[in-house]
Amino acid sequence: MALTAPLLWLDGAMVPSADAKIPLMAHAPQRGSLVFDVGSFHATDRGVALFRVREHVARFLRSARIVGLELAYDEDALVRAAVDVTRAAQKDEGLVRWSAFFEASEPDLLPRSAKARVAVAAQIPQDPPRTTPMRIAIFDDARKAAPDALSPEAKAAAAYLGPMMARRRAVARGDDDVVLLDHEGNVAEAPIANVFFVSKGVLRTPALGKILPGITRDAVLAVATAEGIPLREETIPLADATSADEAFLTATSFPLAPIGAVNGRTLEGAPGPITKRLSERLARAQHGREEMFASWCTPIANG
Ligand code: PMP
Repeated sequence: MALTAPLLWLDGAMVPSADAKIPLMAHAPQRGSLVFDVGSFHATDRGVALFRVREHVARFLRSARIVGLELAYDEDALVRAAVDVTRAAQKDEGLVRWSAFFEASEPDLLPRSAKARVAVAAQIPQDPPRTTPMRIAIFDDARKAAPDALSPEAKAAAAYLGPMMARRRAVARGDDDVVLLDHEGNVAEAPIANVFFVSKGVLRTPALGKILPGITRDAVLAVATAEGIPLREETIPLADATSADEAFLTATSFPLAPIGAVNGRTLEGAPGPITKRLSERLARAQHGREEMFASWCTPIANG
């Protein structure tokens, strides 16, 4: 659970978060057309800094384009809004959430007003970070929509309903989360995270095309390259997932969560050595302690 900071940015102005409301009959909740993105900020030696903020904003703009939401703000304006809400939150660590949505009351499928409203909010996680490896379920019949039916690159509210139901099934049988297959039956991603496996010293993750291009996924691949760990972005059959030596999920909000069991099979010694190495170096990069990845951090302090 994350608590929204008292002030958020709504269409260019800082307003009390409690004043930002969507009408019940709006297109966004009724049709699931809201798009969003979630970034993070961290304490660094140069003060609080946003992590890979331009990539998050670029992905947010792409989600809006895919769904057909017209935004009145460009990348620079949305980065500035993130800086403003992060400053206003007065915290060292947290999340930034950009949302765009049709507010018009609209019973039809296509909204008459193409102009979207835009909100940017800082959110402070309330739960302590998880310390035990996750138990993951992978069901042969819990699959993502085909990319030509629903682009996996759009972070749209409606896209999370199927994955949410799959997670419910996983939790009901005693697992912590689910990894969905793609429409062809190969490993895709978790509801809100990408997935990695380590087999015989090789780091493997599903190739782009049928998954969200995760920014943490990209960061882990860059860190693995810097560490000299062999890596492959490729098709991963379900059988490979259940026989891996190590596995972990990546998402802005964790950012790297070790997996301790897949479909009831224990991954002995989780988190394994490669998972630990990647996790530690990624954490250093997020906190501005990696010269090589310094460009990933955008300090929020006044120039
Ligand atoms: N896949 C999906 C479907 C997601 O919603 C997320 C969270 N944004 C991710 C993967 C991980 O992406 P990121 O590392 O950019 O947070």
